[in-house]
Amino acid sequence: MKIRLFEIFTSVEGEGILYGTKTLFVRLAGCPFTCFYCDTKESLPLDSGKEYNLQEACQLIDSNLKKQTYKVNFTGGDPLIQHEAVAELAKYVQGKKIPTYLESSCFDSDRFNHVLPFIDIVKIEFKTKDSKFVDSKHYEKLIENVMNCLKSSVSERKTTYIKIVVSSKTELSEFTNLVSSIFNSVSKHQIDGFIIQPTYGIAEPSLDLLLDLYDIVFPFYPDVKVVPQLHKFIGAP
Ligand code: SF4
Repeated sequence: MKIRLFEIFTSVEGEGILYGTKTLFVRLAGCPFTCFYCDTKESLPLDSGKEYNLQEACQLIDSNLKKQTYKVNFTGGDPLIQHEAVAELAKYVQGKKIPTYLESSCFDSDRFNHVLPFIDIVKIEFKTKDSKFVDSKHYEKLIENVMNCLKSSVSERKTTYIKIVVSSKTELSEFTNLVSSIFNSVSKHQIDGFIIQPTYGIAEPSLDLLLDLYDIVFPFYPDVKVVPQLHKFIGAP
């Protein structure tokens, strides 16, 4: 089995509920989607990075793994593009008793369920229509898949949190509908966090908009947090 990796490096986690933790990032190559705020565009081509066999990829993890690393993130690109190989690598990392973490757009719940047994911490990302992730014709299908991934993750009792990236273009009515359908599917006790992440450097939302979005989530989930990408403030990748 082959796997195409774009890069592998240790840094400080800058997003989500575990920001600040020392993390080994395994960035998979390839993502066919088109979010306008994507900050890893170099890794989107399916032929970016370098191809390894599984044994070489495991050796690469070993040689890059620093002492006292809190977790290993499988990120991209979108790791679910190479779901079979990611499952094998995550299984390898779990064997070392280091928590594994999946960062994906959750575009395909079958692929997600294939990887899930080998993942300890899951970020479930809901894209809003203004992200331009997919065209409007395919948007409902995307949300259906993400919702199924969320349900699987909580039913398998993984550490699960929700993230939504928001920009100046995010519409309150669409955001409201999305949040209510999330909490129609899961209860607040089943998730470990809800992060509203503002875009950085492009179509940034105003503070007023962020507070309005916060207020929409709060009645459903009082521990909601607005957290920007903190690694960008310290110049970390
Ligand atoms: S899904 Fe992620 S990697 Fe793919 S285009 Fe969107 S932000 Fe970039």
